[in-house]
Amino acid sequence: MNVILLGPPGSGKGTQAQLLSKRLESPHISTGDILRRAVGTELGDHAAEYMNRGELVPDAILIEMIRDRLSQPDTACGFILDGYPRTIPQADALASILSGLDREIEIVINIEVPDTDLITRLSARRVCTCGATYHLTFNPPQEEGVCDRCGGALYHRDDDQEESIRNRLLVYKKQTQPLIDYYANLGVLATIDGRGGIEQIAEGIYEAVAAASAR
Ligand code: ADP
Ligand code: ADP
Ligand code: ZN
Repeated sequence: MNVILLGPPGSGKGTQAQLLSKRLESPHISTGDILRRAVGTELGDHAAEYMNRGELVPDAILIEMIRDRLSQPDTACGFILDGYPRTIPQADALASILSGLDREIEIVINIEVPDTDLITRLSARRVCTCGATYHLTFNPPQEEGVCDRCGGALYHRDDDQEESIRNRLLVYKKQTQPLIDYYANLGVLATIDGRGGIEQIAEGIYEAVAAASAR
């Protein structure tokens, strides 16, 4: 299945993408993780300037990045996109890249969470360079500051500070939210309530994916 997880920052895309990736045995593609891993390269340092302000990195950079990632063979039997697309031009480019590969997006999971919860979640989020995500209260690692999955040191993202979080929520509403109608019009949208326990939400997402795969 070719899946997109859509939702505001903090809605649980990364957390859910990781679980779904295990279940479907498909790669989890997070453009945020790819950009953060590129720090130290010219492209990564350029992108970090936008990221730290809570702004979107220019479309042209993201489109090339996703074109390159989707050309890799591990995506041939399905993938889970987390954090891409974030604008209409990115969605159009994705459709054209996939059509060239004779593939298409089969389901877009739109995760809904109220803004007040998003701020609580992001201000205490801790992440690992391996892509794992934790929360100091809601999803703590077994050992404080250490990743359960790889043993790496957890850190607080520079853009998970109140001012940057507020800006990211505004950017989401203006630039990314229009994708909800975009994918609804294509008949591939499933909306999921992103409040409640992580496992329960994962179950709802899996059911929506299974229903789409049976279509
Ligand atoms: P996104 O990738 O959409 O920005 P994350 O998966 O990184 O979201 O989740 C944001 C924060 O919220 C993380 O700290 C994560 O541990 C926490 N979180 C994820 N899902 C839930 C949930 N269902 N309930 C409470 N906290 C959650
Ligand atoms: P979150 O988990 O909070 O939704 P991400 O890790 O997905 O955040 O993204 C972090 C930052 O990386 C974004 O605020 C943005 O600056 C940049 N970024 C990631 N994906 C994209 C994209 N598809 N288009 C533009 N910028 C992006
Ligand atoms: Zn890790």
